Amino acid sequence: MDCIFCKIANGDIPSTTVYEDDDFRVIMDINPANLGHCLILPKTHAANIYDISEELTGKAFTLAKKIAKAVQKSTDCDGVNILQNNGEAAGQTVFHFHIHVIPRLKDDDVKMSFGSFKTDSESIAAIGEKIKNSL
Ligand code: AMP
Ligand code: ZN
Repeated sequence: MDCIFCKIANGDIPSTTVYEDDDFRVIMDINPANLGHCLILPKTHAANIYDISEELTGKAFTLAKKIAKAVQKSTDCDGVNILQNNGEAAGQTVFHFHIHVIPRLKDDDVKMSFGSFKTDSESIAAIGEKIKNSL
């Protein structure tokens, strides 16, 4: 399979690596939203959160906490976004599961806001029920 993050995670393509263990490589994003933007890459391929194992998902988010703390300490940022995109509609451009750790400053130019969807309390309750029954 021709997956760039598989190649990076497994060391076949060089990257600026800040952390590595048996399951993950954490690299600096090549086109960062802010200075200090890191990406957590599992070494085994999974396209997205639907495909990755629960065990690796848990490890990935535990690692996100560790990286977030290191990013905060090293950049002295005011906040950190943990972002994980699934599917083109959600902004995913590389189809190998990854978690973004993005340092934020009070007046930076990073756009991460979303508008509010026009709906009503019945629709919210109905979709909530549907989600509950899909678990
Ligand atoms: P996403 O839009 O969630 O799929 O994020 C993909 C991210 O991967 C973007 O932030 C890109 O800047 C980053 N990216 C793509 N190619 C590379 C690469 N070769 N090395 C480091 N980061 C990359
Ligand atoms: Zn891959």
